[in-house]
Amino acid sequence: MNSLLLQGGRVISPGDNLDKVADILVVDGKINVIGPEAASRAPAGAEQMDVSGLVVSPGLIDLHVHLREPGQGAKETIATGTAAAARGGFTSLVCMPNTSPAIDNSGTVALIHERAKSEGLVNVFVAGAITKNIAGEELASIGSLKKAGVVAITDDGHCVQNNELMRRALEYANMFDLPIMDHCQDYSLVTEGVMHEGYWSVALGLRGWPAAGEEMIVARNILLAETTGARVHCQHLSSSGSVKLLREAKKRGVPISGEACPHHFTLTDSAIAGSEKFWAEDGRAIFGTRPDHADLPSWPSYDTNFKMNPPLRSAADREAILAAVADGTIDILCSDHAPHCDYEKEVEFDYAPFGITGLETELALSLMQLYHSKRMTLGALLDRYTIAPARLLGLPHKGRLRTGDDADITVFDPDREWVFNKNESASKSTNSPFYGWRLKGKAVATIVCGEVVWNETPTASPVATHNPVLR
Ligand SMILES: [Zn+2]
Repeated sequence: MNSLLLQGGRVISPGDNLDKVADILVVDGKINVIGPEAASRAPAGAEQMDVSGLVVSPGLIDLHVHLREPGQGAKETIATGTAAAARGGFTSLVCMPNTSPAIDNSGTVALIHERAKSEGLVNVFVAGAITKNIAGEELASIGSLKKAGVVAITDDGHCVQNNELMRRALEYANMFDLPIMDHCQDYSLVTEGVMHEGYWSVALGLRGWPAAGEEMIVARNILLAETTGARVHCQHLSSSGSVKLLREAKKRGVPISGEACPHHFTLTDSAIAGSEKFWAEDGRAIFGTRPDHADLPSWPSYDTNFKMNPPLRSAADREAILAAVADGTIDILCSDHAPHCDYEKEVEFDYAPFGITGLETELALSLMQLYHSKRMTLGALLDRYTIAPARLLGLPHKGRLRTGDDADITVFDPDREWVFNKNESASKSTNSPFYGWRLKGKAVATIVCGEVVWNETPTASPVATHNPVLR
């Protein structure tokens, strides 16, 4: 019998209305006891972990991750991507289907499940494609994807442009009780845009990606969710207009939800003009009132690690996203972890692929921008990373801490300061704009089904060794 006793932590589980100092006993991969009797019920020889002074939360869930397998193992693999997740405090993730080949059939879903079982360090859930080969032309076999175990469908990276096709996709998804997640981008408006259309795109001479290009599809999704009754989840929202649409639709009871990523609520488009421009204005509040600004990270203009899709937007958009996460209009937080090789990013801004890595920095950035900034309580913030994604995806034993649930647990120190270094990252790729940043808040232990897969507590004992990366 495998057992683990977590002692003295502040247990916060918004899905259980729980926020108190308590011990937790894990036996055979399940939560066994939460409360004062945990220690006395622990079997002899139970592993102990002193987590006093730390926050103990249901294992964090990131529902938007690109693991790049199959087909793009040079960028990331299931082994390296899940190792990055473990370091970042994530016990579960959902991998996106824009792989090569795309995850648009049951065979590829089975392949990923198989590989995740043998090489993955955390739980890997799979999102299937909406359309065959993510080409936006013909629906994938949504029923067989569901049977193969996908938890949602999305064409992420792309967006179904044909509204009639999207309507049918919603109807099928509804029939199979699958949420449909959408990367909201109107191609006719966005065309070849590479950064937010505004002052900085003009000043830098780069083609603009207008906010309306996102909002148009958010509005479309709201109308179709209303028409079909299907659940639609809008991915990586970036603009104040999207937030307004979502807020209004939710008031009317439309089955729509949204997510936001730390880069969109931390950075702005001025970062593409270089660090000096960013710190002079939009970045000023990020490190609070810290007097010593000598160690502010620096980067050049046109740095492609600030190129993502949707793009970094204005300070007003960033503020709207933060407010929407705080008031619950945006239900879920995630990384959109999108690894790319150095040689792909080391090209002119126009030609670089969109996306950055994010699994190892998202908890800290969320704590900084939403908790340390006093916009949200820890409980409200954890809701967006635990019970909210578990509910959307229909994962009954994830995202909360109850007797009998899977023992997926994240232990973190919300106040620990640390610097994100390239050589301490588990991801295969290094396309992050946050290297050298002094971040506040860090996962110190990650426990997946009772197994410790990341451990920086003072009582650290060896971590799980079934993954080749950490062997
Ligand atoms: Zn996307």
